[in-house]
Amino acid sequence: MMNPDLINFIYLLSAILFILGIKGLTKPKTAVRGNMLSALGMLVAVVVTLTTINDVDFTYVIAGVIVGGIIGGVMALKVQMTSMPQMVALLNGFGGGASLTIALAEYATRVGMAPTSLSDFFEPVAVSSSVFGDGLVGTIAILSIGLTVLIGAVTLTGSLVAFGKLQELIKKSRGLPGGPIGNGLMLAGALVAVYLLVNNPGNVAAMATILSLALLLGLFLVMPIGGADMPVVIALLNSYSGIAAALAGFILGNTVLIVAGSLVGTSGLILTQIMCVAMNRSLANVLFGKMAAGGEEIDADEIYAGKVTSAQPDEVAMMLETAQRVVIVPGFGMAMAQAQHAVRELADALEKNGTEVEYGIHPVAGRMPGHMNVLLAEAEVPYDKLVEMDRINPTFEDTDVVIVIGANDVTNPMARDSEGSPIYGMPILNVDKARNVVVIKRSLSPGFAGLPNPLFAMDHTIMVYGDGKKAVVEMTTALNQA
Ligand code: NDP
Repeated sequence: MMNPDLINFIYLLSAILFILGIKGLTKPKTAVRGNMLSALGMLVAVVVTLTTINDVDFTYVIAGVIVGGIIGGVMALKVQMTSMPQMVALLNGFGGGASLTIALAEYATRVGMAPTSLSDFFEPVAVSSSVFGDGLVGTIAILSIGLTVLIGAVTLTGSLVAFGKLQELIKKSRGLPGGPIGNGLMLAGALVAVYLLVNNPGNVAAMATILSLALLLGLFLVMPIGGADMPVVIALLNSYSGIAAALAGFILGNTVLIVAGSLVGTSGLILTQIMCVAMNRSLANVLFGKMAAGGEEIDADEIYAGKVTSAQPDEVAMMLETAQRVVIVPGFGMAMAQAQHAVRELADALEKNGTEVEYGIHPVAGRMPGHMNVLLAEAEVPYDKLVEMDRINPTFEDTDVVIVIGANDVTNPMARDSEGSPIYGMPILNVDKARNVVVIKRSLSPGFAGLPNPLFAMDHTIMVYGDGKKAVVEMTTALNQA
């Protein structure tokens, strides 16, 4: 067994590696290195932890590492960029499940449970008060176990439902009986059971209650939420899985697990908060509400009637030929049309013609954080051409043409100008400030928020109706032939 001070020192080093890793992940250029540093930190932590435990049959550990490693490696290599959210949901679920099983195993071992039939689970076990440690230490240990089971189980079932929705295995967003009040009652019931467990650690029925209510709660919480809001839910569940891991760290007395869990817990919460701010919605609205609930009714006909101008891709190409600066603004429709490669080819053609091209990226364009960045990176668009909202907005006034491809809500001026609008306050890309705006989409249908977009009816806006990829390819062909 290693000297405890040395162990803690190595744990500190792996915590530093995690932090450097997260820092690296904040920029595309350093992201791969950041990922490697975090993985190295995790490897060091795992190896050192293994040296601290006695009486372990390493065959199981090695078999677990090999089987898990192969499954994880194959999944990561095979997953499509567009299926990344599902993969993250699944991994979050496994994280919550791992903490849950640690807590259950630790509980069963400490109370000396050896159940032979189902009814044994409901028989109180006589437990000496020192099993979990004396005084405050004992209280913290059993409280951590109860809360880990609660949060780990919610994360497990919640993430599995999120995975099912994103993979389109679960098609409908149906509310389950009870709604928010029912969920609140389940949570209250589970917390009362945690209290009973802390008072009497041998109260196995309390443990069974926490587990069953929490498994149900995860299901009931995520089931009614629409597919498009899933990324916010996943960020939140990610945070839960971190909190469960940190609590499991308290159970096992493992410092590095507490640190790693806290990092995941807080970064997940920060991401959830960033997404809510970027959509100008509260977390409660995402979890329990509908996007366009409230606000005044807006009549699309009134906004569009007789005011919308449309053109063919080759006509737009003529306009692009003389443009000095073009900004491309992608949205969910670019992902739907899988148009990222076509968009890069259009940018190449424009640049060959001497036009300056940049991309304006809204933080919640698409259906997951970084959705546009990931797709454009896949098409090998240089990172420095992807410009965040705050930096691109002041440049629109000096832009000859903005090409909006499959984006809608993130360009809607009502979010900036109409106080009564349900999306009022959502930060947008001010594309309407450019000299000309070209919007590529199939129709005048609304986006995720279900609202008409006055941008489409402005004098300097031209609509190009059609599939995003097809329209962009036709524009590039026309431009190359000019
Ligand atoms: P929107 O959902 O507002 O609009 C997308 C547009 O794409 C639609 O209007 C649709 O119009 C068009 N479209 C669909 N398929 C195609 C196609 N094949 N070719 C061309 N166009 C197509 O997307 P935005 O990206 O502008 O906004 C994202 C929205 O999602 C925001 O409201 C945001 O709050 C929300 N959201 C984002 C999350 C995130 O993490 N990124 C999380 C949760 C919500 P048409 O049918 O006429 O073609």
